[in-house]
Amino acid sequence: MQNGLVLRSTGSWYEIRNPDGHIFQGRLKGKFKLKGLKVTNPIAVGDRVLFDVEDEAENTAIITDIAPRENYIIRQSVHKTAHGHMLAANIDQAVLLATLAMPRTSTGFIDRFLVSAESFRIPTTIVFNKVDILSEDGLAFQQEIIELYERIGYNCLSTSATENEGVDEFRALLDQKVTLVAGHSGVGKSSLVNAIAPDLNLRTNEVSSFANKGVHTTTFAEMFELAPNTYIIDTPGIKELGLMDTSKTEIGHYFPEMRDRLNKCRFNNCLHINEPGCAIKEAVGEGDIAESRYMSYLSMMEGGDNRR
Ligand code: GDP
Ligand code: ZN
Repeated sequence: MQNGLVLRSTGSWYEIRNPDGHIFQGRLKGKFKLKGLKVTNPIAVGDRVLFDVEDEAENTAIITDIAPRENYIIRQSVHKTAHGHMLAANIDQAVLLATLAMPRTSTGFIDRFLVSAESFRIPTTIVFNKVDILSEDGLAFQQEIIELYERIGYNCLSTSATENEGVDEFRALLDQKVTLVAGHSGVGKSSLVNAIAPDLNLRTNEVSSFANKGVHTTTFAEMFELAPNTYIIDTPGIKELGLMDTSKTEIGHYFPEMRDRLNKCRFNNCLHINEPGCAIKEAVGEGDIAESRYMSYLSMMEGGDNRR
């Protein structure tokens, strides 16, 4: 019996790394209990498993158990079926890669990501890349945005992958952690990751041959070892994480700056849209909650699928 970390999954085969760095192709024998989770896949990238080596020469393995998860991300099916897909497990933090240069990341997108991450209890750092091509006004605007997010508790970093700015800080941020790296294509994810781990040669937005073998080619994640005990989880093609099973009354709880104010509204079922005596709208009026954040809140309350 050995233990290992699941780096990739096709839905039927799991690539497992043991503590010595050996890679095994593992499978589950028989039906495996999902322990109440409504998901189609019993094991996700980031899972820690126990396994028996099946064939020494072929490096195949049989997975016998899954360690309890610290957290996980479940994506609901777009068809709103009862079962979702577990994207990844045991994530220490997320990095949302953004840029205020091209292709500019909207605050709406940032906010929806942060709300998702809150719902899965994953702390997030926002990394603003391409600072080298921002104008003076652009830099001033970025500073405002960074202050906005830092004020409500999010760590922020500004980087230039091409000019090697903030790259050491980026490396330090990931050190000894399992980090989910997300962001629109073109923000510089491969450039930044390659700047700290040139050997890795991350191919973003490209379905790897391993994932291609699987049946679940639409949603998958892959884990890469950057340095000892330092992993990133890449989710090519996945733009939004979605939300943990959430009712509308809960969305406000995923805005840290709203949390303490939610019970101060006149009506305890206040949705903070146009009710009288709303403490949230009052705080927006006084500038204590940023207008852009409140707009994101409203748009999430409107859209059944939480899109703009
Ligand atoms: P990805 O799709 O997020 O992986 O983005 P890439 O790393 O492929 O970068 C997309 C484009 O942006 C490429 O042309 C990069 O050279 C460029 N790029 C990435 N980072 C920076 C940066 O910090 N500054 C500038 N000026 N360009 C960058
Ligand atoms: Zn209210």
